[in-house]
Amino acid sequence: MRYNVAGLLKSNTGAARTVEVDEPFKLGEPDLALVAPVRGVLRLIRDPGGILVDGRLTTVARMPCARCLEPTDVELTVALTEHFRPTVAIESGPPIEKDPEEEDEAATEIDIHHMLDLSDVLWQNILLAAPMHPLCRPDCAGLCPHCGRNRNIEACDCAPAPDPRWQALLDLKRPR
Ligand SMILES: [Zn+2]
Ligand SMILES: [Zn+2]
Repeated sequence: MRYNVAGLLKSNTGAARTVEVDEPFKLGEPDLALVAPVRGVLRLIRDPGGILVDGRLTTVARMPCARCLEPTDVELTVALTEHFRPTVAIESGPPIEKDPEEEDEAATEIDIHHMLDLSDVLWQNILLAAPMHPLCRPDCAGLCPHCGRNRNIEACDCAPAPDPRWQALLDLKRPR
């Protein structure tokens, strides 16, 4: 997901370009695959320090259900507001003011060919947007802790797990 921003860097502060995003994106993450293209609209805005990328993207991630481990599709919305800095001065463009607060991070650098690469930033933001405990359905019964059967599909004869609160009382009663 790369954009040539040479023209924008030559423009005055406030100049903007709108890009429509609709492309597949691969993550290097075994437990999270995107099963829909990343879609949305981004604004690339020239500001005194470089380019501000702002917008909202959506996609669908396939992750294992936190209870039964079945593959589960989760809609994700990623709100991006990220600042990118040029690494080289561009001829005829307005000067770049370096913000002393800004950390030097390779992920938000525009390369020497004036290509702005959104991949790392997008990846980080997709991971942040992904739920920690996705569920295949709100009432997923999960796997039986004893026999490992998926209790959404078939019941098993194992005794229900003791309530952990009772277990604490039982432990108190046990002679030391
Ligand atoms: Zn489940
Ligand atoms: Zn069981």
